[in-house]
Amino acid sequence: MKIFRFICIITVTLLTLCACSSKTNIHTHTYGSWSILTQPTCNEEGVLVRECACGHTEETNVSALGHAYGEGKVVVEPSCTERGLTNYTCKLCGEVKTAIENKTAHTLTEGYVIDEEHHAKECSVCFAVTGKEDHFYYGGVCIICGCPYKEPEISDDNTTFD
Ligand SMILES: [Zn+2]
Ligand SMILES: [Zn+2]
Ligand SMILES: [Zn+2]
Ligand SMILES: [Zn+2]
Repeated sequence: MKIFRFICIITVTLLTLCACSSKTNIHTHTYGSWSILTQPTCNEEGVLVRECACGHTEETNVSALGHAYGEGKVVVEPSCTERGLTNYTCKLCGEVKTAIENKTAHTLTEGYVIDEEHHAKECSVCFAVTGKEDHFYYGGVCIICGCPYKEPEISDDNTTFD
């Protein structure tokens, strides 16, 4: 009979534990509205907190605000030869972000710069020569740049003639 009594005690104990734990679950927390515990910043998450009448609190994270960059301030004006730099300042925290600006396009002249075999475009700002290609003769002139066909200089190499 000793064993039976022992089991009884265990059962009662278990029942008591169950009742206890279910009791704590019966109360559904009723929270007030969220209030700010930690203000979010540009880089860091903030924390909101709300409290139940029982004193239990719940916290949740709110995402970082992200920088709010204003209009850029040109530090180095880009040109067709050099890239530029622009500084952007965050209106909230003052952090400065420097952005590299692409070079601007060359300002190509209307006409072509011409040598005996090629025509090309030239930049009127930096004088870079771009788009160099062979003349394309048709009817005695290059139909692209308009330069007249010129007999090639006498060459020692005649092997390509038919
Ligand atoms: Zn509660
Ligand atoms: Zn910021
Ligand atoms: Zn240029
Ligand atoms: Zn040409």
